[in-house]
Amino acid sequence: MKQKRCIMTLPVGKRALICVFVLLLSGLLLGWLVLCPKDVQAYTREERAKFSQGMNTHRVSMVLHEEDGTLAVIHEVDFVNRTQDPLPHLVLRTYANAFLSEETSPAAIDEVYDSAYRAGFSTGGLHLQGVWWQGEAAFHRYEDEAQTVLRIETGDMQPGDSGTLKMMYVLSVPECAYRFGRTDTAWQIGNAIPVVSVWQEGAWRKDPYDPIGDPFISESANWSLRIQLPEGMTPAASASLEKDGDGIWQGEVLCARDMALTFSRHYTLLEKQAGDVLIRVLSTSEQGRQALKLSEKILETLCGLYGKYPYDTLTVAEIDFPFGGMEYPALVMVDRSYFTAEGDTLELLLAHEIAHQWFYALAGSDGFNHPWQDEAASQWAALRYVGARYGKDSEENLKYYYVDAPMQENGLDIFTPGSPVSYFGDYMAYDSVVYGRGCALFYALDAFLMGSMDECLKAYCHAEPFGLYTRKDFEEAVSDFSGKDSLPLITDYLDTRMQ
Ligand SMILES: [Zn+2]
Repeated sequence: MKQKRCIMTLPVGKRALICVFVLLLSGLLLGWLVLCPKDVQAYTREERAKFSQGMNTHRVSMVLHEEDGTLAVIHEVDFVNRTQDPLPHLVLRTYANAFLSEETSPAAIDEVYDSAYRAGFSTGGLHLQGVWWQGEAAFHRYEDEAQTVLRIETGDMQPGDSGTLKMMYVLSVPECAYRFGRTDTAWQIGNAIPVVSVWQEGAWRKDPYDPIGDPFISESANWSLRIQLPEGMTPAASASLEKDGDGIWQGEVLCARDMALTFSRHYTLLEKQAGDVLIRVLSTSEQGRQALKLSEKILETLCGLYGKYPYDTLTVAEIDFPFGGMEYPALVMVDRSYFTAEGDTLELLLAHEIAHQWFYALAGSDGFNHPWQDEAASQWAALRYVGARYGKDSEENLKYYYVDAPMQENGLDIFTPGSPVSYFGDYMAYDSVVYGRGCALFYALDAFLMGSMDECLKAYCHAEPFGLYTRKDFEEAVSDFSGKDSLPLITDYLDTRMQ
């Protein structure tokens, strides 16, 4: 029998040494507790399970055929008519088909063509092999030239009616550095898995895949994903994926308005638990460590400003993309060049993209008609992050560059920040007007609310978690918070042309 050694039985010198050691250890523990981001709070799985009741459920099963550049997919949707109207048929958005031709591809506009199609145009799309509704083959057709509006004949569905849709299709992934595409770095499957369209004012939304902005609108749903990848490939997705005993990656996410993923042979996975959230960075460079540190700081600050983060994971994945970054539920895709960029470029981009988890994933809005509602809000949040972390002067310097300068720019007076994405002909104008001048609205509202715009936004985005918010919802949230009519100020900034 081995006796436990008691500190009091040791000689005095050894006792003192142990006491110093214990004190040091306590100090370290205290320091860790102080520095550890305990302020990163998130909606729990139970809370999301409650919100997810009655949402549509998607089950997506994919197999990668690397040599053909394709993914074979079986996709089932449990659909519930949650509208107040009888629905005559179902509409799904098959945005991947926009990549079939140069005429319809959002990556084929002059401004991005060379950086997206590096070796010339490459076609991609979604090839349907079968559609079944309630177990029977369903008549279906595309309603637009770009084949992004898929109409499925289901027969009339009364409010509350439900049914199961099954589709088999092949996603042919173009050689293209864009939301949907593949490069030497990674496979990027963004806005490529079909989503159910949104029923509004007695009709299905059928907006085109506009090349400017993120022209999407979708309701939150529950997703499960299974993907079979060759050995050595690591995926990142909106769902939190784990490899099962058969080597298949699978996972799920509740309350997500889209399902995006990327995978690569070159990813190194770094992860860290920050409070309630597991942060994962998948990158091909050493700078992944820096992105992990920054994401933690940003998450901590934004949780302080806007309340609970929507999910229990946040994944940052490196891709090849002409615009810096792209947000999806619980997933942020970041262009490779940002990982090695000088100065604060990566930090600002991550702050903007992570802010979208509040102003897109949690408080959804109409990305086609009201792009300012999440873009200008995320830009404001990124600048507020800088202010909270580095002081008012740092925020002011950036505000001058990102907000004040666009307010003085000439030649953009034909646009207003409240315009839909389809009004803009190029990214330069879109960026200045929607991000820059749109963000000026938030500074004006902050003055109107005597410095409490962040608090107002916190109340706004948690009012209906994972819902779709209209412009009117935003206006009412500001008026309710202030007790004053905010409409003239909002109209002035969003709808008035610069003189
Ligand atoms: Zn954005």
